[in-house]
Amino acid sequence: MTRTVYVNGDYLPESEARVSVFDRGFLMADGVYEVVSVLGGKLIDFEGHMIRLKRSLSELAIANPLSDDEYLAAHRDLVARNGITDGLVYLQVTRGNPGDRDFAYPPEGTAPTVVMFTQSKPGLADAPAAKTGWSVVSVEDLRWGRRDIKTVQLLYPSMAKMEAKARGADDAWMVQDGHVTEGTSNNAYIVKGNTIVTRQLSHDILHGITRAAVLRFAAEAQMQVEERPFTIAEAQAADEAFITSASAFVMPVVRIDGAAVGSGKVGPVVTRLREIYLEESRKAAI
Ligand code: PMP
Repeated sequence: MTRTVYVNGDYLPESEARVSVFDRGFLMADGVYEVVSVLGGKLIDFEGHMIRLKRSLSELAIANPLSDDEYLAAHRDLVARNGITDGLVYLQVTRGNPGDRDFAYPPEGTAPTVVMFTQSKPGLADAPAAKTGWSVVSVEDLRWGRRDIKTVQLLYPSMAKMEAKARGADDAWMVQDGHVTEGTSNNAYIVKGNTIVTRQLSHDILHGITRAAVLRFAAEAQMQVEERPFTIAEAQAADEAFITSASAFVMPVVRIDGAAVGSGKVGPVVTRLREIYLEESRKAAI
């Protein structure tokens, strides 16, 4: 089945969708994105993703082209048109097509480009890796200084992912000044006793929507949460480690730079957090 995608208000077969070669997203990575997961045909944490989208746009002074209701209707339309039960909706908004290449922003009134498409991932919440856990390797964090804005300039995370694969791992944890910032496309955590440690929000990391939900559930489950930086050595000596993202949910990490974390097996805290996250998110899905 050919996919139906959304481009600037139109629903088109993917082979007929067009974006200009002068689009600032293409030429300058001048755009932002969101990824919303779909479970049982419903959108997970949609409102949180819309709040972050508007913040990313506003930080870059890109006019928000659609209302929340229009974004929601388009997400639902794409899910229905593509028969998605489990999967993702990818949304990208760029500064649009000024008709030429120029470092200066285009004149006011240049329409942003809005593109959305679905990815079907049957059984997304039953990933076998959730039972065995990921291994990660550390790499230096060479990204720019505004990682809190969810831009489409993903080249360094992509290079880090390739380095992880080349080293036989599932993902990379990026390290700045000796402390972990985050994974290539996820937030990073360790567990020691009854305490969950994850880096505090700042310009250094993306403010994960899954992170916010998981920290809320952890506090409700009487766990302590410490928002502070941690080192690779501290992570290797932790009882458990994990990552969160909209598409991986809560995923255990059992090996860091070759060293087993705790028993080297998926632990009880991450197992419970994953269960709570999936259960609560499914309940609140729209
Ligand atoms: N950090 C980075 C660098 C990411 O790319 C992502 C995934 N978008 C996350 C964290 C996790 O964010 P979320 O839970 O909103 O998917």
